[in-house]
Amino acid sequence: MQFKEENKIRFENGNLFVPEKPYIVYIEGDGTGPDIWNASKMVFDSAVKKVFNGKKEIIWIEGFAGEKAFKEKGSYLPEETLELIKELRVGIKGPLTTPVGKGIRSINVALRQELDLYACIRPVRYFEGVPSPIKYPEKVDFVIFRENTEDLYAGIEWQAGSEEAKKVSDFLYKEFGKKLPDYVGIGIKPISRFATERLTRMAMRYCIKNKKDTLTFVHKGNIMKFTEGAFKNWGVDCVKREFGQYVVIEGEGEKEKNKVLVNDRIADAMFQQIVLRPDEYKVIVTPNLNGDYLSDAAAALVGGLGMAPGANIGDGYAVFEATHGTAPKYAGLDKVNPSSVILSGVMMFEYLGWDAVGELIIKAIERTIKNKTVTYDLARQMEGSKELKCSQFAEEIIKNM
Ligand code: NAP
Repeated sequence: MQFKEENKIRFENGNLFVPEKPYIVYIEGDGTGPDIWNASKMVFDSAVKKVFNGKKEIIWIEGFAGEKAFKEKGSYLPEETLELIKELRVGIKGPLTTPVGKGIRSINVALRQELDLYACIRPVRYFEGVPSPIKYPEKVDFVIFRENTEDLYAGIEWQAGSEEAKKVSDFLYKEFGKKLPDYVGIGIKPISRFATERLTRMAMRYCIKNKKDTLTFVHKGNIMKFTEGAFKNWGVDCVKREFGQYVVIEGEGEKEKNKVLVNDRIADAMFQQIVLRPDEYKVIVTPNLNGDYLSDAAAALVGGLGMAPGANIGDGYAVFEATHGTAPKYAGLDKVNPSSVILSGVMMFEYLGWDAVGELIIKAIERTIKNKTVTYDLARQMEGSKELKCSQFAEEIIKNM
């Protein structure tokens, strides 16, 4: 398909240029994906219309991936879908099944690698009325910046008993005198200064733009000094060097109004902190594996994965996505909660600089939940609520705009 240049989002000299009618790629997803996507699109289009009255609108372009792509194009992840997102720069996706078997790449991993989407960003905030396992869930309001390209996820590992594992084991013994057990699987945990610094910059700019007063490096540097510990050291150095006028480092000065307090916490202690004192944290920067665990635990504090949005962002490319899976047992029942994709859309509108659209959607979701008109997952835990279908929940959000 030939796309008009005037509707393409551009990225030049580190800045994003968004036309009034930009192309955005959507992938509806498998299982419950189509139900969720249709509901979310209704909300997005209504909010954009309400805010801009036709002056701006999104031109949705379908990208094929997952089972639908396999049926129509013979591949779970056609090359043309990757090319499409590369060309149009911004996409949003529902959940996808990654079939277990040889030779099929996970689309999430492929997209991250191809577009170098180095930050996985997960905002965690509470909507009044949502059932929560903690006493004061309204104190939870932070954003996690998880490194997305390295750490134990870099895919450098060898199976126990393999020729490669044996070679690496022998090498470690001969060269460094480090003896591993005989039958041993080996994984490598690379953490680089380059990847740490670019993530830190993104998080720091977010703090400044959104007036967040705390940035916390979460790491396990007490044990893994040259990976997790280095992550924290490189991050703090980068902050001091490049953002010195905006920050106070914990332990090196008093907290100041209008400055970002930069501190660090050991990962295990942080799991306790987000439960007991969540309001002390605003922006969290962490390596890949810690970030994976921490984001799901944090989502549980505010209503679970059905309410948890996410984005994978690089320089000039972004893919927003549901953080849950395809929930296949509910496929086609018009039943599940579309909030994860809707809230990912809110992040997308902020990324485009259309903040008013995101704010309108957030207010409408707040009202809808406060009125106790919710999908099954929340209804089953909320006394006196009215259970709505996925599409009805979207219609209710639109009414509440
Ligand atoms: P899942 O699809 O996330 O579903 C697990 C449970 O979470 C569901 O049974 C449901 O709980 C709840 N849930 C999920 N989405 C919900 C929603 N929108 N609203 C309300 N509740 C929701 O996890 P899974 O069953 O382990 O994985 C299924 C497939 O998804 C797998 O093929 C996996 O590979 C894929 N997956 C994809 C992604 C992605 O594309 N980002 C992420 C994870 C998994 P109840 O049963 O309690 O109602």
